[in-house]
Amino acid sequence: MMCVRFVRAGTVLVLGLGLACCVAPPAYPWGGEHRQISAAAIESLPGQEQEYLRLERAAIAERYCTFPDINWPCYGQWGGGTGDPRAARMPDLRRLWGVSFYCQWDPVLQKGKGYAHAPPQSCAAAGVYFANAVKALEKGRLEDGCRVLGVMLHYIQDSGSLPRIQPVHRIFHVRATEQIGLDGFTPRVLGETPAEAAQALSGRVEQLTGWTEQRLAPLLALAGMPLEDAKRQAAQQTMAPAVVEAVARLRAEKPAEFEAAAVDCANECVRVCADAIHSALAFAQKPYVEPEPNAPNVNLVFNPSFEEGEADGVPAGWCVGWLDLRDRTGRAEWYRAGTHWEKHVRTGRYSTLALWPPKPGLDWQQTWPQAVRVRPGEQYRACVWGKAVATTGGSCLAVEFSDTDYQPILTVKTTALTPDGTWQRLGLDAAAPDRARWLRIILHAAGNEGAVWYDDVEVVRMPP
Ligand SMILES: [Zn+2]
Repeated sequence: MMCVRFVRAGTVLVLGLGLACCVAPPAYPWGGEHRQISAAAIESLPGQEQEYLRLERAAIAERYCTFPDINWPCYGQWGGGTGDPRAARMPDLRRLWGVSFYCQWDPVLQKGKGYAHAPPQSCAAAGVYFANAVKALEKGRLEDGCRVLGVMLHYIQDSGSLPRIQPVHRIFHVRATEQIGLDGFTPRVLGETPAEAAQALSGRVEQLTGWTEQRLAPLLALAGMPLEDAKRQAAQQTMAPAVVEAVARLRAEKPAEFEAAAVDCANECVRVCADAIHSALAFAQKPYVEPEPNAPNVNLVFNPSFEEGEADGVPAGWCVGWLDLRDRTGRAEWYRAGTHWEKHVRTGRYSTLALWPPKPGLDWQQTWPQAVRVRPGEQYRACVWGKAVATTGGSCLAVEFSDTDYQPILTVKTTALTPDGTWQRLGLDAAAPDRARWLRIILHAAGNEGAVWYDDVEVVRMPP
């Protein structure tokens, strides 16, 4: 049975911004341009490097280069990203993709170090994430390396979209996105060691900011707002009215010139992004070797009994799939055994709880960084212990197989739990279909006024 629960990051971003429009003026920085610039940068790499990135290249452009813009506590919460009480819940993309892990900054736990999306921090950030990506790629950890590369690309791209002049930055868009791309550009390696290349990249990103500002300078001057004045005023007041006015005039009177400048800035970003990826791959383990197939008869699930986690109310490696973003009743909790007469755990001290789930349901699901890598044709056996009380909808275990683009291609489900308050074992056998690369466990609870607990998940590969 095919079942798509996935919401594309782009859709969500646009949705969030749409809602933001009710509260703030419709102004926002680069969105789709991030994807286009990343894709164009990968296209300008030598053939063998494109081949090296083959499995992850779509994900780098579609998802990973947006990570820093998803690393906010509002994901998974009410308010559409603006605190609007009428808005829907934001899907928890931050946890689903392990975004805070790859950004090395958790905005909920306040752990790690985050960087502003503007110079000088964004320039430093590009070097830091470059070095982190190289550490993963050197060890042949392709996915981790590419995810961190995506974070790096975002900081480069934000640095090249006039972040020091927010009245430009927030309306800076390329309408004809097919104009983003380079013919005949040859990327270069930025340093002989990872540290040297990281440092050179930070400098290169600083130059990028300067280059893009100079590209806009003649146009700003035409609008009666010399570059240095614009920067000074925007530094004092983010949306300085005189700068906002000058930019509005410029766009109205010189739309083609303004668009051409945006295209040039985007393409300058492509050059820096291509140099950065090319340099990172210079230090990658080559050739790329696929990890060994999973050993048989070993539980492949990370944190299978939900005992591990931090103080943000969610077990490590798991997140909630809110299947009805407008539902205001259902709750998904990391359940902790209370007294000796309230102890809905099968083993240990913790389980997952879905309480009063809406009709479409609530899922506890594995995050992508903890998904099980599979190969087509392999046989898997999955099981979980579940307990249901006062439920009416079907609550079951599902195994979701996805392809290299992280799109679900097959979801197999067990029968539903019987709501009798006893622990029951749900299990299924499934073969990884053609094109399958990932397996994720989904603990589903649907439409009812009751409660469902799950504990002790197991996925094993059957001996060939
Ligand atoms: Zn950003």
